[in-house]
Amino acid sequence: MKALEQLVANARKVGAATEKRIEDLDETRAALAALAALREAGLIAWTVPKEFGGADAQDLCAADTVSVRALCALRSELAWHSGMLDVMFVMQGLGSFPIAIGGADALRAEVLPAVARGERIAAFALTEPDAGSSLGDVATRAVKNGDAWRLDGKKTFISNAGVAHHYCVLARTSGEIGDTKGLTMFFVPAEARGVEVNRFEVIGPHPIGDVAFSKVEVPDTHRLGPEGGGLAIAIATLNRFRPSVAACANGFARRALDESMKRLLSRKQFGKPLAAFQSLRFDIAEMDMRLRAAELLVDEAARLSDEGGSAAAAVARAKLFATENAGWICDRAVQHFGGLGVKKGSVVERIYRDVRALRIYEGSSEIQKLILAKELLG
Ligand SMILES: Cc1cc2nc3c(=O)[nH]c(=O)nc-3n(C[C@H](O)[C@H](O)[C@H](O)COP(=O)(O)OP(=O)(O)OC[C@H]3O[C@@H](n4cnc5c(N)ncnc54)[C@H](O)[C@@H]3O)c2cc1C
Repeated sequence: MKALEQLVANARKVGAATEKRIEDLDETRAALAALAALREAGLIAWTVPKEFGGADAQDLCAADTVSVRALCALRSELAWHSGMLDVMFVMQGLGSFPIAIGGADALRAEVLPAVARGERIAAFALTEPDAGSSLGDVATRAVKNGDAWRLDGKKTFISNAGVAHHYCVLARTSGEIGDTKGLTMFFVPAEARGVEVNRFEVIGPHPIGDVAFSKVEVPDTHRLGPEGGGLAIAIATLNRFRPSVAACANGFARRALDESMKRLLSRKQFGKPLAAFQSLRFDIAEMDMRLRAAELLVDEAARLSDEGGSAAAAVARAKLFATENAGWICDRAVQHFGGLGVKKGSVVERIYRDVRALRIYEGSSEIQKLILAKELLG
């Protein structure tokens, strides 16, 4: 556990030095500056298994995977400072774990150490205009042609679109729309001919966009896992990283609570600090209680994930509760700031926007309820 405390202290240093510096940069420059800060501190190594050039998690988890406890500790602290730092950190893992668990040895050796050092930027491309929560509806096609594959289709909402050096792409190699056994994952270099990116903006700072594939040729050595095994790789990746979405939500929520407490103690109305009004005191007590509950759920989900047992229910509970709860806490913080809470550039205004997407991506709240209910009821 000492190792985790040291990690959090490092993340705090990076956060404190970077938060203000990237605030006014445009999205691409902010993303690259955030990555550079993480790279210099050596934190990105925690997104890649030790066996493939990542950090040595020692007794936290096996050498062929990443420690979920470390991911959670880091994301919570990074998110406290900056959503951009958080997203640039975690995408290195989401966009490389499919290679760690499914890539050929030569591809792993070529790509993963560079991802761990922050020299290559990774992306994970599942979602399509007509396939969001229902990944069995993926329509991007990969057709075999000798020793190569030809990909055609369009992905959307792809984090790191336009800054990534590669995309891990889920494509259909057999079957019709809805058939979950006909999907295969591929490694596609961003510079491959026929890859086209169209960036758009979401409500929080986040490099994101559409990625279209038009007759993109990749060798069979870029296939990740067996033909038809793509959905299993996507799900294994999501399962590994999902507790850390909850930890990120807790980081935003803790920042919101810290900002609220400072404001209520310093702002006077009706001749008293706002912190003297009972309804606001009750708010702080409830925010604290709910955040602690969310942190305990994340601790449980992360520990079970690292121990390698069945963590599905704990992970779904943690993601569902922590992200919904963080939305509520950040909303209360905006309320405590009054007009300043919605003024562009204030910390709580930024966090309020940053936190919203967490209830949607990597399995929305409704999908977490489906998973949890299935674990409970069969
Ligand atoms: C900021 C951000 C970053 C993202 N990054 C990536 C990325 O890097 N790579 C990637 O592949 N994708 C990414 N996504 C996409 C994300 O994973 C999808 O948005 C998500 O899976 C939901 O899909 P959808 O948007 O198509 O919504 P839909 O699936 O259309 O869902 C719409 C609503 O219906 C609900 N719903 C759907 N099915 C059910 C059901 N069976 N029962 C009850 N309710 C249901 C959903 O919960 C949701 O509330 C990102 C999204 C965002 C917002």
